[in-house]
Order: sequence, then structure tokens, then C-alpha cells
Amino acid sequence: MTNSRPSLYDLKFDELQSALQGWSEAAFRAKQIWEWLYVRLVDSYEAMTSLPKPLRDRLAAEYPLGRLTPQVDLLSSDGWTRKILFALPDQAQIETVLMEYDTRNTVCISTQAGCAMGCTFCATGQGGFQRNLTSGEIVEQVLFFDREVRKGERANQRTGASPDPRSTDHRLTNLVLMGMGEPFANYHQLIDALQRLSDPIGYHFGVRRITVSTVGLVPMIERFTQEHLQVNLAVSLHAATNDLRASMLPINKRYPLEVLIPACRAYASATHRRLSFEWALIENVNDTPEQARALAQLAKGLLCHVNLIPLNPTHGYNGAASTRERIAAFRSILDAQHIPNSLRVRRGIDIHAGCGQLQQANADH
Ligand code: SAH
Ligand code: SF4
Repeated sequence: MTNSRPSLYDLKFDELQSALQGWSEAAFRAKQIWEWLYVRLVDSYEAMTSLPKPLRDRLAAEYPLGRLTPQVDLLSSDGWTRKILFALPDQAQIETVLMEYDTRNTVCISTQAGCAMGCTFCATGQGGFQRNLTSGEIVEQVLFFDREVRKGERANQRTGASPDPRSTDHRLTNLVLMGMGEPFANYHQLIDALQRLSDPIGYHFGVRRITVSTVGLVPMIERFTQEHLQVNLAVSLHAATNDLRASMLPINKRYPLEVLIPACRAYASATHRRLSFEWALIENVNDTPEQARALAQLAKGLLCHVNLIPLNPTHGYNGAASTRERIAAFRSILDAQHIPNSLRVRRGIDIHAGCGQLQQANADH
């Protein structure tokens, strides 16, 4: 954990209330500040104009408003994907990505700087672990991009331009925790962040529009099931037999498929949410007919959807993305077994939009 000071985004509402109480401030101030932060989304203390100057000064002295500093800001050549590499106060770095699809604005956020899980094909895993993010650092990534998305709307209003047809809704519509890090290895900060983001008197982001992706930390999936949140769960499966999966995702040695799949089943039946299985297609590794059949077997009877994505190449891994023919053959086996599946288009390759790839590229230069 970082030893630098908590930011205002790190505070729960009751923590803010007691801090203000300790300063003998009126009780309504907490609500006012909360609104500036999570409803009006201001990014400076000066903008909180309903607060007396001395209070603003004191807040600024005690709590930095945020801790993320954009370092590299890239737009993909098609203009639909934007990625920012943020520096944290201790110089750790994280990546956040905004993707626009038709009417959707999806932000993909990080939960850790680096990752300790060591998945062989993943740029973040290849870079190792730095530290857990605080709940405020998780929340702040979302607010940062929400402001950016809204700026587009304001610019249109000013110029009288018709809304950008590519993003009909100038709001974030979806939030995925699929950036750097393993969310369930930073469980408490994750839960705090989800609560703050979905807080009805604050940001009030719908939990059904949030997806948490995990490599398969089974005890934490079980614990998450007990939270009774309506959050979507994505599980990085990538292989349907233990030997292959363990060779790609070391965590499989600890939590093999025979414990992972029942935990997935329990989550789906407790929440009635359709689970996603993530599958990076790697030529001659996990795109074989045998793997497709084994996957169909695992997925049978489970409320799930398989998200196929051709491997994004990384420095530390030799495999190649599957060819179009092999992908089609793989999918036809799933289709024949009535396993819902879709192929995600690789987007933002030119800006290293894959997990952990921008930081890897940046470190090279
Ligand atoms: N740690 C979590 C979430 C972050 S990774 C997890 O593993 O689920 C987000 C997704 O990107 C995971 O499904 C991960 O397996 C996948 N991924 C990582 N490296 C990739 C690569 N090089 N190509 C395609 N997908 C990759
Ligand atoms: Fe970590 Fe997920 Fe990458 Fe595995 S795939 S190393 S769990 S970020």
C-alpha cells in the first residue's frame, strides 16, 4: 500500500462526515462536498464555490483532491479508443482505457499497479507487481474519463454542433475492471470503490453496468457471491483443461477447474447474472478443436457467454493470434453445442490498448 496521503476520493461518506465534525463544521457540508465530487464531478477545490474559502483551504491542505497525473494520452487511429497512462504520487503507473461503441462509452480501469498473477501472455503479468491501488485511485479513474466524455457534450452545446454520431450518449455507460491488476487480489479496496461508485447519494452508477474480471481466485469469487451485488462477473478462462490452463495461468495450480467452475456456477445462480468467460485465442495453443469441445463441456448448463479475443501480442510471450479460419472452426464447435459466444474485435492495437501494454511500451522508450 502506498504511504502517501489519502485523497478526498479515498474517504467514505461517514469518514468525510467525521473529519468535518472534528473541524466543527456544520453537518450539511459533507453532503455538499459529496455532491461536488460525485454529482458535479469538479476537479478542483476552487470550483466548490458553495464552500467557504477557509474550509476549501483546509480541505486542500489535508487531502489532495486526486492523485492521478496523466503522463501519456493516446487516441487510436480510428479515434474510438483513448488510453491514458497515469502516474501516481509514488511514481507507480496505471493504465485506463475509454472505448466508444455505438451508443456505449465504456471505461476500463485498473485495480493494481502491476499484477502478481504471472499469466504468461499478459503484459501486466510480465511486468510484475507494484502495489494495490486505494479505493480513491480506482474511483478517480472513472471520474476522470466521465469528465472527458462530458466535455465532448459541452463542446457541442457551445458550438451548436449536432452531437457526435459516434457517441450519442455523453455519459459513461459501462464500467469494466479489466485494466491492470487482479481485482480480487485487492478485495477490500475494490468493494469500497464499487460502493462509492454506486452510492445513490453520490455517483450512483448502476451496478448492472459494472463488470469485474478475475483470473479465478476462488475464495474471493465465493466471498463476492455473498456480497449480493448485481455486478457482472467475467472469468479469465483461456483454457478448459488443467494442464494447459496451469501453463498459461499459474493460479490454476492453486484453484483448478474443478473448484473454479462450481464457484462460477454458484455466482450465476445467486445473482441470476450471466457470467462471461474470457478466452484469448492463441494459435495452436488454445484454439484447437479439443479445447473447444472441453470448453463446451464446462460451459454446458451454465448461464454464461464466451468472449473470444484474438491474442494481443506482447514482448514476453511467443504465441500468435489465431487465424480467421481457426477462429471460425473453434466457434463452430461452440455454436454446435449451443454455447453463446462472440468475437471481440481487437481495438486500439496501435496504442497498445491491451492490458498493461502501454506501460510496457513506455518503459521501452
Ligand atoms: N486480472 C483480471 C483482469 C485484468 S486482465 C483478469 O485476469 O481477469 C483483463 C483481461 O485481458 C483478462 O481476461 C486477461 O486474461 C486478458 N488479457 C491479458 N493479456 C492479454 C493479451 N495479451 N491478449 C488478449 N487478452 C489478454
Ligand atoms: Fe494479472 Fe489478469 Fe494479467 Fe493475469 S491476465 S497477469 S491476473 S492482469
